[in-house]
Amino acid sequence: MVDAATPETSAPKGESRAFEADVSRLLHLMVHSVYSDRDIFLRELVANGADACEKLRTMALQNDALLGGDTELGVTIACDPEGKTLTVSDNGVGMSHSDLVEALGTIARSGTRAFLEQLGEKAEGSNLIGQFGVGFYSAFMVARSVDVLTRKAGAAEAWKWSSDGQGAYTIEPAAEADAPARGTRVVLHLSEGSEDYAEPHTAERIVRQHGSAVPVPVDLIEKPG
Ligand code: ADP
Ligand code: MG
Repeated sequence: MVDAATPETSAPKGESRAFEADVSRLLHLMVHSVYSDRDIFLRELVANGADACEKLRTMALQNDALLGGDTELGVTIACDPEGKTLTVSDNGVGMSHSDLVEALGTIARSGTRAFLEQLGEKAEGSNLIGQFGVGFYSAFMVARSVDVLTRKAGAAEAWKWSSDGQGAYTIEPAAEADAPARGTRVVLHLSEGSEDYAEPHTAERIVRQHGSAVPVPVDLIEKPG
């Protein structure tokens, strides 16, 4: 007997998925990178937050209900030295389940594809990282694991993506208490030796050096205890 009440299209809870082979290759490179300018990861995450705000702003021209009451779009960096985390949040467009699988599980990005092609079979890609800017995956240069909590503009459901960068990631429905009302929160659990990135003065220095080209406000806060 077929149970007609079973929703076939809803995603299973806590599913684990393997990264595309090229992503695994890139992540391996990130984790073992001897690239000296690891600061670039923050520029990449802030740029992604700003892109998400710009995307929402464009979509809102057609449908201003997407903005709701939350019209001040921007990026927030929260430092937690005690918890050894650095969090980059935005109230931009956010991601659906399929957006997450596509964007953070494959090499969807032409720049990253070009990077891998340049790299060829060479093992040492360190000096290419700065040239290409390898986007989201550069977070794994400084993080032992990354959580992405996200809710797409206008969507009821929110998702949590997590990975330690070791070949697989999980996606599950986010607990309502943890989820942003709209947009994306990227939480970096900093690896040993990278804890300094949880210090507000470090984040501030990087934003000052790299952040001037960002088209939305970038706030820096220190998380209370
Ligand atoms: P790029 O930004 O060049 O596309 P990234 O690796 O930085 O490459 O990001 C890959 C994709 O992941 C983005 O194109 C976007 O679809 C998605 N993404 C990453 N961060 C966010 C975010 N904060 N909000 C919404 N989508 C995001
Ligand atoms: Mg990017």
